[in-house]
Amino acid sequence: MSLAIISPGRNPQVWIDALIFHQPDIDIQIYPDIKRPEDVEMALLWQHPPGYLDTFPNLKLISSLGAGVDHILSDPAVPASMPIVRIVDEKLTWSMTNYVVMGVLNFHRQITRYQADQKRKVWDMSNPEIPVKVGVMGVGALGGDVLDKLNYLGFPVFGFGFTKKDDFPYPYFSKDHLQDFLNEINVLVCLLPLTPETESILDLKFFKKCQTGTYLINVARGKHLVEEDLIPALNQGFLSGAMLDVYRQEPLPDTHPFWEEERIQITPHIASVTNPRAASPQIIENFRRLRSNQPLLNLVDRKKGY
Ligand code: NDP
Repeated sequence: MSLAIISPGRNPQVWIDALIFHQPDIDIQIYPDIKRPEDVEMALLWQHPPGYLDTFPNLKLISSLGAGVDHILSDPAVPASMPIVRIVDEKLTWSMTNYVVMGVLNFHRQITRYQADQKRKVWDMSNPEIPVKVGVMGVGALGGDVLDKLNYLGFPVFGFGFTKKDDFPYPYFSKDHLQDFLNEINVLVCLLPLTPETESILDLKFFKKCQTGTYLINVARGKHLVEEDLIPALNQGFLSGAMLDVYRQEPLPDTHPFWEEERIQITPHIASVTNPRAASPQIIENFRRLRSNQPLLNLVDRKKGY
């Protein structure tokens, strides 16, 4: 019984080292050098070639190498009955929360304004803080922690999710109450999974519903945002700025207008990168559970798509 790592264009060695560290006798095969496809029962995927899983006649479980599974579900060759697990990990959550806190504080304490003032030798003590009310779309493993930490720092926080939640610890809006949610906030954090329902959710129509001058932080997926609508939303004042970590095309093409736009801060999909040492134990545990027919950890609901 073998575990395949299929992560084209990335060095798999850190994963091999981490998995072997936690289970020295594990049988690992690495794409594209898979010699015994019939032995593979679990595949670890990050942006695998679509259709490639057909190579494995005995595949029983797919694990994402990250929190998101959109890269797996977008492959029509993945059978509807195939269980898919994903990474939920404290280290991943910690990094994501730190990134979002940085974005919120940048807006609240206006770091870009002071950087511009520094270049021009301007000493301007007026209005040093922008009052902030933060809304987080997606209150799962990542969004939930973001809410907790921002609440701890003293910011009013609001959650937005798919299902109704009666006992949520913060003001909460389910998906049919988007306008009520947006009325409360002036910083919007997108931490939704990418599903057919959430794709392109952040478009001009959406931004028109926001409070004037809302600040956007998108750390989920590039396809949540209709990119050509962002600069018009800034120009029309619906938004005042944005911090983006994810894009429709990655790496962001040289000709993309976001590179030149001062109101948009960009980072290269680094908000939170899976740490192989931290994530390997749950992968190995799922491999073990697969063999002993026990319930899997962090199982994706195939109907919901996350
Ligand atoms: P979870 O599955 O734990 O949480 C998803 C949340 O989104 C849930 O609260 C769910 O609502 C809500 N949701 C789903 N669909 C909708 C909808 N149509 N309308 C409103 N709310 C919806 O995911 P994680 O928190 O672990 O991860 C979120 C995403 O973050 C990942 O899918 C990934 O794409 C992205 N990510 C980005 C990284 C980066 O470096 N930029 C790193 C890691 C992840 P409910 O609670 O009601 O089910």
